[in-house]
Order: sequence, then structure tokens, then C-alpha cells
Amino acid sequence: MSALMQVNHLSKAFGGNQVLEDVSFSLDQGEILGLLGPNGSGKSTLLNTISGFTPIDHGTISIGTQRIDKLPTYQIINSGIARTFQLPNMPKKMSVLEVVMAAGTRSHGLFQSLFPSKRLRQVEQSDLAKATQLLDELLLTKVRNLPADALSGGQKKLLGIACALMGKPSVLMLDEPMAGVHPNLRQEIVETLTRLNQNGLSLIIIEHDMHFIRELCHRCIVLNRGTIVANCSPQELAHNEQVLEAYLGG
Ligand code: ADP
Ligand code: MG
Repeated sequence: MSALMQVNHLSKAFGGNQVLEDVSFSLDQGEILGLLGPNGSGKSTLLNTISGFTPIDHGTISIGTQRIDKLPTYQIINSGIARTFQLPNMPKKMSVLEVVMAAGTRSHGLFQSLFPSKRLRQVEQSDLAKATQLLDELLLTKVRNLPADALSGGQKKLLGIACALMGKPSVLMLDEPMAGVHPNLRQEIVETLTRLNQNGLSLIIIEHDMHFIRELCHRCIVLNRGTIVANCSPQELAHNEQVLEAYLGG
């Protein structure tokens, strides 16, 4: 395996609150990396910095040989990085299919949206095919014409994944994909993520559910107060002093 993404000495403060401090880690090609840590330890902020939603103070983020830490969000998406949100917020008036299609349109850029051409219409046709295929893969075909807002918490998470995959990313980052998901859907999410990974997608997953972590992740990093305190296999987590300290130390 070779490193696909590299984060080096990344720091971020909000006002006087040092939320990430000297964070370094890599993500290998084809790897599923768990991102753990107590509430408030900086996990979501780390995803926000990698995906360009939050500017960093110090450090570098690279994908392959390309530095992405100063790029605007749309260029980061174009470099192959996608993410989902902890609490997906869905538009009330759009259907599930329309929401996935709109996620595809964003990646074509404003210029093409303003000046539609024959080529763009062809792109729309291929988007429709791609969106239809993703809805099928993510078990959402039956609800494709419902308002996106009417979906259950778990289905919204799946829809968030479908939207993220419209840009054909090489890395997908998921913020608590299991939180609030009905147990019936959990196994299906695990199987879906496993299948996507087997087809070449690398994943970074923030999650508290240890069963899920053990089932899915190849390796885990653990944040405590903005610093990485462990980088080990899921099996080693339970025996790691720093991990126990992070969760029990208060
Ligand atoms: P986690 O996802 O591990 O629960 P977060 O990354 O959401 O943690 O938050 C880490 C810390 O950063 C918290 O103290 C939070 O209040 C602070 N924080 C996160 N985002 C912002 C922001 N946009 N402005 C100010 N403080 C923030
Ligand atoms: Mg969070």
C-alpha cells in the first residue's frame, strides 16, 4: 500500500481554543481509517479542514503529490475528496433523485450551469445514469421520488453518501454514519461501505460504535483534545493506555 493522503503538522485554533495541534497521519490507498476520540476532541474539525470548509493555521494536507490545503473547496472535491455531514440537512422541496442530481451539477461548475451546451446535456444524461445507479447501490430506489426531507435518519445518511459519490471521489470521509441509524439499516451500511472499499474507495470514518469500527476499519487514529494519542489496529484500541486515558481521563 502507498500513502494516498498525507496530513502533516496540522494545527487549528478558534480564538483562544486550540482545537487541533500538530496532527500528522496518512491514509493509504484502499485503506479504511477510523477516526476516534471523545466528544469535542476535534474529529469533525479535522474533516472540515481536509475538505476545505475550515482554513488551517499551520501544516500541510496533500493528496498524492498535490498540496490541497490552500485550494478552494470545489478544487478539493475535484482532487478526489468527498465527505458527508454529521447531521445531514436535506432540502424539503427536492426529491431524493433531484438531490443526488444536484450534487453532480455542483461538480460541473457554475460556468457550465450558466451556459448549457449540448455537451452539458450529455453530461446530464450520464449524471442521471450515475444517480440512478448510486440510488440502487444505496438501497434508495424505492424512495427516489419522495421529498428528501421525508427520509429516515439512516436513509438521509445513505443519501448523503450517494451525493458524495456523484463526484467519483478516491477518498470518502464520513462523519458518524451510524449515529441515529435504525439497527435494520446498520448492516446494510456496513455492507455498502465494504463493497465501495473493495471497488477501490479509501475511507476515513468518524464513529463511536466499536462493533462497527472493528468490523470495518483497517486502522484507527484517536484524537484527544486535538492531539493524536494513538495510531493502531482496532483490536489494539482496548489495550492502549492513551486511548483509555482519553475516554476515561475527563
Ligand atoms: P468532535 O467532532 O470531536 O466532537 P469538534 O471538531 O466538533 O469535535 O469540536 C472540537 C472543538 O472545536 C469544540 O470545542 C468546538 O466547540 C470547537 N469548534 C468547532 N467548530 C468551531 C467553530 N466553527 N467555531 C468555534 N469553535 C468551534
Ligand atoms: Mg463531531
